[in-house]
Amino acid sequence: MTLPILYMVVPCYNEEEVLPLSIRKLTDALTVLVQEQMVSSESRLLFVDDGSRDATWMHIVEARERNPWVSGLKLARNAGHQKALLAGLMYAKNFADCIISLDADLQDDVAAVSAFVRKFHEGYEVVYGVRECRDSDTWFKRWSAESFYKLMRRMGIPLVFNHADYRLMSRRAVEHLGEFHEVNLFLRGIVPLIGFRQTEVTYRRQERAAGESKYPLRKMLSFAWDGVTSFSIKPMRIVTMLGFISLGASAVAGAYSLISKIVGQTVSGWTSIMLSLWFIGSIQLLALGVIGEYIGKIYNEVKRRPPYIIDIVLADKPAAEQPAW
Ligand code: UDP
Ligand code: MG
Repeated sequence: MTLPILYMVVPCYNEEEVLPLSIRKLTDALTVLVQEQMVSSESRLLFVDDGSRDATWMHIVEARERNPWVSGLKLARNAGHQKALLAGLMYAKNFADCIISLDADLQDDVAAVSAFVRKFHEGYEVVYGVRECRDSDTWFKRWSAESFYKLMRRMGIPLVFNHADYRLMSRRAVEHLGEFHEVNLFLRGIVPLIGFRQTEVTYRRQERAAGESKYPLRKMLSFAWDGVTSFSIKPMRIVTMLGFISLGASAVAGAYSLISKIVGQTVSGWTSIMLSLWFIGSIQLLALGVIGEYIGKIYNEVKRRPPYIIDIVLADKPAAEQPAW
């Protein structure tokens, strides 16, 4: 039986503090998988440097000198987590039979990797890592994540609850992922659309091993908003509904003012005019804003800009150079 080649894709942005530890832990995990004959020894750890400004790339280059399992991609600039991940997946699919994506900070518990690979052996092509509980997060992160999943469900977007980007995909699934040419990339929304046999593996989310989160509140909110607007036109519908409701309200108000005029009451005050003016004005602005958001998305998609640009590829060393492992 030929063993599958596994690539573990790790996007890294300013991760110098945690990277040496991550490389060690991931190498250990891969060693176990190879020794247990679950994956081929041609498997690799692929680190994608997402335009870091610190010594991240240096750590990757140095690790590769010592460790034949390490390979790397350096993006020309910071493209963002999702696009860095996409870059890694698209590169890895040329060599791998299955690909696991995970964060550099070891929050995605590497102990679960063998469970992913077992599922792959059972014939699953997409395996989602689902976190058991969120003890290690702050209450704010827990609350915001929960509201996010609820909102997405309401919007009709089929997200796997409590799954981030820790997942295994077969080469075939990643090839099809490449056919979704979306610039506004929201991987965890797209992957369920690919289909094939999909399953879940639970794991315990760890504390960030070192360094700080690269997702400040601002990035988190923009990520959530991107998620909603790239997958659902519901916000546009809600605004249209609001438009109808305000139309109804103004019909009632119009009838009232006409009747008042006919029965000869004095013109009612300035307040009601001002209130309705503001009310309708704000609804119009809101509607324009939401429509503008979608037009902006269309604008970005039709430009077909490349989602990322690769600067350097640290590919495999030639076989002769590889030490016996
Ligand atoms: N990341 C990236 N590009 C970015 C931001 C983050 O490649 O612009 C990587 C980061 O290095 C990490 C992963 O994405 O491996 C998740 O980021 P982080 O752990 O900071 O997010 P959190 O776990 O706090 O949500
Ligand atoms: Mg993290």
